[in-house]
Amino acid sequence: MQNLWNDDEAAAFATAGELGLRVYSSRLLGRDPSLVLHGGGNTSLKHSEADVFGQPQEILYIKGSGWDLEKIEAAGFSPVLLDHARRLGSLPSLSDPAMVNELVSHMTRAGAPNPSVETILHALLPYRYVDHTHADAVLTISNTADGEAQIRELYGDSVVVIPYCMPGFDLARLVAERFPREVGPNTIGMVLLNHGVFSFGDSARQSYDRMIELVARAEDWLQARQAWTVSLPPPPAATAAQRLARAELRAEISRVAGKTLLLLGCADDTARAFAAQPAVTRLAGQGPVTPDHVIRTKRVALFGRDVASYAADYGRYFAEYRSRAKSACQMLDPAPRVVLDAEFGLCTVGSTVAEAQIVQDIYRRSITTFLRGEALGGYQALPAADLFDVEYWDLEQAKLRKKSATPPLQGGIALVTGAASGIGKATVSALLARGAAVIALDRDAGVHDCFPQPEVLAQTCDITDAAAVEAALEAGVRRFGGLDMLVLNAGIFPAGARIDALSDDLWRQVFAVNLDANLRLLRLGHPLLKRAPGGGRVVVIGSKNVPAPGPGAAAYSASKAALTQLMRVAALEWGADGIRINALHPNAVFDTGLWTDEVLASRAQQYGLSVADYKRNNVLQTEVGSRHVAELAAEMCGPLFACTTGAQLPVDGGNDRVI
Ligand code: ZN
Repeated sequence: MQNLWNDDEAAAFATAGELGLRVYSSRLLGRDPSLVLHGGGNTSLKHSEADVFGQPQEILYIKGSGWDLEKIEAAGFSPVLLDHARRLGSLPSLSDPAMVNELVSHMTRAGAPNPSVETILHALLPYRYVDHTHADAVLTISNTADGEAQIRELYGDSVVVIPYCMPGFDLARLVAERFPREVGPNTIGMVLLNHGVFSFGDSARQSYDRMIELVARAEDWLQARQAWTVSLPPPPAATAAQRLARAELRAEISRVAGKTLLLLGCADDTARAFAAQPAVTRLAGQGPVTPDHVIRTKRVALFGRDVASYAADYGRYFAEYRSRAKSACQMLDPAPRVVLDAEFGLCTVGSTVAEAQIVQDIYRRSITTFLRGEALGGYQALPAADLFDVEYWDLEQAKLRKKSATPPLQGGIALVTGAASGIGKATVSALLARGAAVIALDRDAGVHDCFPQPEVLAQTCDITDAAAVEAALEAGVRRFGGLDMLVLNAGIFPAGARIDALSDDLWRQVFAVNLDANLRLLRLGHPLLKRAPGGGRVVVIGSKNVPAPGPGAAAYSASKAALTQLMRVAALEWGADGIRINALHPNAVFDTGLWTDEVLASRAQQYGLSVADYKRNNVLQTEVGSRHVAELAAEMCGPLFACTTGAQLPVDGGNDRVI
């Protein structure tokens, strides 16, 4: 455990006063994933300031919900009237929604985020700075059969120990009752069994130092008991093609969930080795390291691939505990969020890559905690009933009811060829904007620089190389779980050659890219598209040259016409598999790599037009951009085209020869 405090850094934050230092040390905690992960933990500051009448008032600055400690700013702290928050802690009972209402209506800044659900607890602790984390090392010790005894022996009188209690108002009440009785001259913190640890102090530095000290002592405890360095036998060698089996599993998970979900793979060796362990069922079948995680990971993982049994078990769990919920609750979808499979390793489930990645980050750390807990005497999670209470907390259920509209392609996976420039690049952006994850292929290695976001798996791939295409598909499915949409965009347009001068080589070269490679992609993609939860979708980027060819482009026009005919046959053959396939015929899209300024100038001159007029030389007298083609390609993958297959649509500003 490293103390990250740096006086120079701190001095820069100190110019913003005590709240500045509150921001600084909160970020230090957030920077260490062994302390908090993805929105976990919270911090506060009690501060006196003048109100608008010049009267002093005590404010509790508490982390706002939705903020991550690592990136928190002063605006991420909710200013709550301290006296009011303290008085709430003296009530015999208060529902959590009523508690949130009281806190939100007693803040001094309109538009501040909702204060943390631990606000009253922070208010009751009589210290200026209070820090709370879900430190792995402390939880490892706490989550064992004799966890409480070990925690008491380890910390002696330096912490107050609070037995597990549901977070929110009940926990604040329990602390209000126990803490004053047990606090002593040596108290520097508080351990909430099976939940986390608090530290506090007069300054940001003191409170932070104490947190690091408490966690370091827990780490030393584990080390002294040979429960720190844990090792597993090496994972089984990665097997060959898994893509169909993975796509099958994702389809089943999506079916059970009633929505399209991603199945994010994890290449980490420890996770793969853990998934192949016989002990995995008992360890990961108990519950998460801290109850907070249950919202992300569900209580238990799916072992293997029997999704139907998992869903049935989940239904029984809900039926058994639903009467515990404080208000009427609605069952969450019964699909797993964590899958441990001997062959696939660890996979996590989510509607978006970000959501599935959070589950993966949490679970990879949990695996280490499970193993250390085993080495310490046996990992033991909270009983299912306690976890149910957090999973079906009325505050969480309220969030569900508020859910905003989901993007049309959320959870979907698309593959786009020729993705490093022009129409392909714009199509990747249009698909991302609609919520899809994208496998972006291009023979130009520049494709890796186009899309840094985790929703894109960029791969250098020459689509005429059959082995490379298969490897790219395999990698895409290992990453995202399947394939729902295919946009066949890559193509070549060689310099004009009339038929009498057309070489066999050029002819074959054009057909190899524009037709043969696409046939192969369709063939390889078909079994995956067939398993797409919302039905497979293919968009072929054709050309105006299909309905209206021009002289000097025989190879190009013939290859695009053949590709269009291939699309029409595929529409007939694959309709029964729920796959729809349509084509777009763009024309005069000048913002692509093909059209340099010189080429454009010389073409315009040939027609006796200025460049500007040449660009608008169509019925609507409008300029057609890559973006227009891309938006329509993405739209064709969405619900608007749910009943359309085998269709051809021009994107050309209107062409009198086509009309
Ligand atoms: Zn907590």
